Amino acid sequence: MPGERSTWMKDKLDERRQNASFRQLSSGREGIDFFSNDYLGLAQNRAFQEYLQKSSSEKLYSQGATGSRLISGNHSLHDELEQEIANWSENEAALLFNSGYDANIGLYSSLLQRGDLIVYDELVHASIRDGIRLGFARSLSFSHNDISDLEKKLKEGASGRIWVAVESIYSMDGDEAPLRELVKTGKLYGAELIVDEAHTAGIFGDMGQGLCAKYHLEQHIFARLITFGKAFGTHGAAVVGSKELRSFLINFARSFIYTTALSPHQSRIIQLSLHHLSAQREMRESLMRKIIYFNSTLKELGLEPYFLQSISPIQSLLISGNERAGAVSQDLQKAGFAVKAIIHPTVPAGKERIRISLHLHNTNSEIKSLLEKIREIL
Ligand code: PMP
Repeated sequence: MPGERSTWMKDKLDERRQNASFRQLSSGREGIDFFSNDYLGLAQNRAFQEYLQKSSSEKLYSQGATGSRLISGNHSLHDELEQEIANWSENEAALLFNSGYDANIGLYSSLLQRGDLIVYDELVHASIRDGIRLGFARSLSFSHNDISDLEKKLKEGASGRIWVAVESIYSMDGDEAPLRELVKTGKLYGAELIVDEAHTAGIFGDMGQGLCAKYHLEQHIFARLITFGKAFGTHGAAVVGSKELRSFLINFARSFIYTTALSPHQSRIIQLSLHHLSAQREMRESLMRKIIYFNSTLKELGLEPYFLQSISPIQSLLISGNERAGAVSQDLQKAGFAVKAIIHPTVPAGKERIRISLHLHNTNSEIKSLLEKIREIL
């Protein structure tokens, strides 16, 4: 009826409220940071900010690219930075995207052709799933980190190419993909491997190139995603791979083609962060020591059974149910710890959790107090 407003949006939102899965923005950043992806603290490091400001003001870099890279938005700095990222990651080429989300959307939607098969770990990030949905391949998921299930799916074969999609460290569980076995299995079935290194870039590998580099697997991987919004403390992303892949993405990746490019200023910030981080071996080692300390304290306090096993900065305390997970996170927030509950539908029902991110800026005593508080709550 004219004038009568439909209630479908309200109904959908009410459904979320009833399931305790209603999302809202909060600007609260109070408390000790156990929730950001700023693993090395670069986004909040005063000295680093001053270094960036000084170095990026030596020459003026425009704050706007003015258009898509294919029209008015390509600047020599983009090309220069991409070559540096390619050299650093031991690949032929790299292509910048505005975010990791954009990069995954563009990569998968353009690569996956009719007749192809893509087999992906059931826990891959939403951006990979969305990219797959936009592509034309048949898609199958395999049980998390389960090579025999992957093989089962690969045996189904395809008339076109076969692809496998994984993350080197999973964004929610914090565990590692069995990269060497994945490479071996991929070769056995003629499948190309794509690895999302969003949570390993900057923190693993001699120069922070990620986990594939730590295991010297770079040459066996078709494409890798590097993001600059996590350990690098800024934003933007790059896909690294062959020169042919770069050229393919420039031609077919719609999230690259139809968007305003990263500004020269932002590219300079990424470049400076890359220069800085690749030399920061000590920072990476220090972060690893925090992770070891976290794990040993977990054991000492008898909390191991409540956590997913992880040797990465991502640690997950499983608290089943949206309401319970929400209540535990509120208790922790009241005690001065900045943490967030990760609830269904972001994670499967029953696998709700408090996702704890460890950082260089977390002291051992902060880690210990957080775990003691968790023990008290549990
Ligand atoms: N891949 C993974 C595994 C991620 O965790 C994220 C961010 N949460 C992305 C891709 C997207 O990266 P960005 O934040 O740069 O869009």
